[in-house]
Amino acid sequence: MGKRTCIVFVSLILVSGRLMEAQHSADAAKQLVVEAVAEAGKRLVKKECSDFFGAGALAALTSAKYRVVSFGQPRFREGKLAVAGAATIRETGMVLINLDGPFVNPKLIAGGVVHRFNSILSPPESPVMLTDPDFRALLLLHELGHLLGKFGPDTAATSRSQHYNKAILKHCF
Ligand SMILES: [Zn+2]
Repeated sequence: MGKRTCIVFVSLILVSGRLMEAQHSADAAKQLVVEAVAEAGKRLVKKECSDFFGAGALAALTSAKYRVVSFGQPRFREGKLAVAGAATIRETGMVLINLDGPFVNPKLIAGGVVHRFNSILSPPESPVMLTDPDFRALLLLHELGHLLGKFGPDTAATSRSQHYNKAILKHCF
């Protein structure tokens, strides 16, 4: 199957007594996608970013079909909390975004504790924290890499996924 699921690891744990803001509704999540596509598009205007992804990147970004669906809450994986951020089905030009993942809520509760997720890097790499809009744009650009076939499968390869994120950070941010 061509589905590539991108897993996101916790990079920093914030212990907080406050309750997380209410879960975003599916409609609000769709609006976040619209904003993130626009933000990712702005990144692609930058020549270095556009050269990195290659010709047709902006068209692929804007013509992709985006769906926000639940594919699960954070779970332990390789001894660390992880959650699926998004998945791309290249054959159908479809990007699936996890309604229960960090694209929608970069701060998630797991085991009663608030965790801040970002997909950029996790230990032993130094964490890189982005603003929520930048984080969402990076996540879509990562999926764009899969959509274009520039990025290979990385569902079971955290280091490869992070290598892609580092390259996007370098060229597009
Ligand atoms: Zn990936």
